[in-house]
Amino acid sequence: MTDPKHDPDCLFCKIARGQIPSRKVYEDDEILGFHDIHPWAPVHFLLIPKAHIPSLAQVTDADAPVLGRMLAMAPRLALQEGCNPYPDGGHRVIINTGREGGQEVHHLHVHVIGGPRPWLKG
Ligand code: 5GP
Ligand code: ZN
Repeated sequence: MTDPKHDPDCLFCKIARGQIPSRKVYEDDEILGFHDIHPWAPVHFLLIPKAHIPSLAQVTDADAPVLGRMLAMAPRLALQEGCNPYPDGGHRVIINTGREGGQEVHHLHVHVIGGPRPWLKG
């Protein structure tokens, strides 16, 4: 497999490449899922493309398949990680984009957040 494009200074590229450890929930050639280091809720993990994309604002049609797979796998992983089933359970899926969008790490990531309330935020 070719090495996905990466930014050597990017925290999530380092996590994707195993240079910084993470608690994984999922991994394949294109996608990594790992627990957020500061969870807001009983379940809080992130899904990232292994390739460096700074945010949703830079996404192109070529990225649609990997983004679609990330969204499609979120409910299954949410149940695997302890979210209760829909409709009484469920989870929240968030993609913060840009400074005003609340984005702190500039490598595209999907937050998947759930579990019994109360949560710290949201
Ligand atoms: P953002 O605010 O950019 O949408 O979310 C970035 C998320 O990354 C935050 O929820 C933060 O807790 C998480 N995070 C930041 N640094 C690390 C890290 O080194 N490891 C993990 N697992 N999560 C991190
Ligand atoms: Zn990156």
